Amino acid sequence: MMKMNKECKKTIRIMEVCGTHTQAISKSGIRYLLPNHVKLLSGPGCPVCVTNESYIDAAIGLLSHDHVILVTFGDMLKVRGTSSSLSEKKMKDNVITIYSPEDAITLARKWPQKIVVFLAVGFETTAPIMAATIKNAYENGPENLFFLTALKRMEPILRFILEDERNKIDGLICPGHVASVLGADAFQFVTKEYQVPAVVCGFEAEDLKAGIYNLLDQIEGERPVSFLNLYQRCVRNTGNRLAKECMDEVFQKEDGYWRGIGKVSNSALGLREKYQRLDVKNKFDLSEEIISNPSACQCREIILGLKAPYECKQFGVRCTPETPLGPCMISSEGSCSAHYKYGRVIF
Ligand code: SF4
Repeated sequence: MMKMNKECKKTIRIMEVCGTHTQAISKSGIRYLLPNHVKLLSGPGCPVCVTNESYIDAAIGLLSHDHVILVTFGDMLKVRGTSSSLSEKKMKDNVITIYSPEDAITLARKWPQKIVVFLAVGFETTAPIMAATIKNAYENGPENLFFLTALKRMEPILRFILEDERNKIDGLICPGHVASVLGADAFQFVTKEYQVPAVVCGFEAEDLKAGIYNLLDQIEGERPVSFLNLYQRCVRNTGNRLAKECMDEVFQKEDGYWRGIGKVSNSALGLREKYQRLDVKNKFDLSEEIISNPSACQCREIILGLKAPYECKQFGVRCTPETPLGPCMISSEGSCSAHYKYGRVIF
């Protein structure tokens, strides 16, 4: 696949921070083609995996109102709060899985006597369509549709990881989907400010191999650190102007709370004042009790790239996709789930 410098045995740590990259790397088997000293680490790019327990608790709390219906994407159902999950609390028709944010509007129109709450979770990839849905609901109704948001920003958590002394990252595969919205330029800071080689690449095995080759060529070839957009067929340097404008109109930056990590400044997107009446927290005076040290699950170490999934004692023993103990095993984009599904022998 690529010519390696066999003399170099220093461990090289390359992180990908997009759940779809995590899945694609595991599925393609690229991990096993690389020399032993090259480690591919999965970062916090799976939105389900990083959703704080307090958010799930708040959603479950809403179900105590019998006129509330929660609508959400399927992966959220199994994610546990401090004591239970939505799938455990689900009763007939009070939690509904949807496949598009527009479905939330359709369902709210179908049940005008109910309060329909959309659990809006994701990164800047899904934030524009969430913003468009919120804008549409604000301008055209229905009046009974509200939002519980836990939308995250990629840049602050990348800075958090790059500044972590314990977690020396030698190269970064930037999130391709987020880059298609924000633009490749949004990730230039990785090389300019942290002197870490970085690439934007796509999701096919060939895309990933090209990205990893480029990073290894820089690291092992001791070339000047550079940033490269290898995904130009989808990612413009300046991103998607309309998507960014829509996001910017509806959302503002605020502090975000990440499962197992805690508070990261300016890492979330909350509703601007104009749209606050659609925030279900105001409708029900809902406050989230932030949980910062959740459980024995080692998802914190996993999503920060400090450990590989197989290093968790529960991996494949008590924790499987059928019986997930932590969020990284729930979503198909979660690191533990991808490793479990496509192979357990790492490095
Ligand atoms: S294997 Fe399960 S318990 Fe262990 S870190 Fe992953 S999700 Fe958490």
